[in-house]
Amino acid sequence: MRTPFIAGNWKMNKTISEGEQFIDSLGDLPAEDEVESAICAPFIHLPSLLEKAQHLNLGIGAENAHYEDSGAFTGEVSAAMLGDLGVDYVIIGHSERREHFNETDGTVNKKTHAVLDKNMIPIVCVGESDAEREAGDHASVVESQIEKAFDGIPAESAGKVVVAYEPIWAIGTGKSATSEDANEMCGVIRKKVASLYGNETAAAVRIQYGGSVKPANIGEYMGQEHIDGALVGGASLEPEDFMALLEGA
Ligand code: PEP
Repeated sequence: MRTPFIAGNWKMNKTISEGEQFIDSLGDLPAEDEVESAICAPFIHLPSLLEKAQHLNLGIGAENAHYEDSGAFTGEVSAAMLGDLGVDYVIIGHSERREHFNETDGTVNKKTHAVLDKNMIPIVCVGESDAEREAGDHASVVESQIEKAFDGIPAESAGKVVVAYEPIWAIGTGKSATSEDANEMCGVIRKKVASLYGNETAAAVRIQYGGSVKPANIGEYMGQEHIDGALVGGASLEPEDFMALLEGA
């Protein structure tokens, strides 16, 4: 059985004190074996969030990482640094990074390796654009993204990877995929992982849906066979909404 996993993605939002207030305002979080939960936040938040969440069933994640341990990469933060800090998760290949920061399937692969090497869990984002879906290419686009992201990842690590299926046209638009369509694509992802690593690993990999998920629709997604949770942007910014998402999971 896969434990449901809800992760918030704050993107470039909140000051440090607003982040701390968010944690202070959370109610009782569900037990570890019921729902896994995480907040992924800008780098400056991570030390204070890690401290605040120390005794809570709440993981803390970064929104990106560099794959080199150190070096002349001005403005970057490495997976090695995040691992040393005690970060639990790293979002990799979010469509906003693919679109605005030249993230490619190649860098996604290198980052996935680096994050696993530092004993953190990568949340690898895949998803098609509007045009790719219109052209009927959504399944092949996502299969290719999965194949490249997992390239060279050993079987013993592959099951730890969390995949977030995030159709680009549904992110921050209020236009969510139907739960059936999202489930179909999460099924495509699971089948692809099975073709690479076998059924046992594919059954262990958690696949989230992301794209305008909110308290009102989380239940529909969680009722689907291949959807194990959600990566949530806008609706993870308020503690009441985040708590409602966890309840809905
Ligand atoms: C996201 O940032 O990953 C996301 C899915 O955003 P939203 O929930 O706002 O669509």
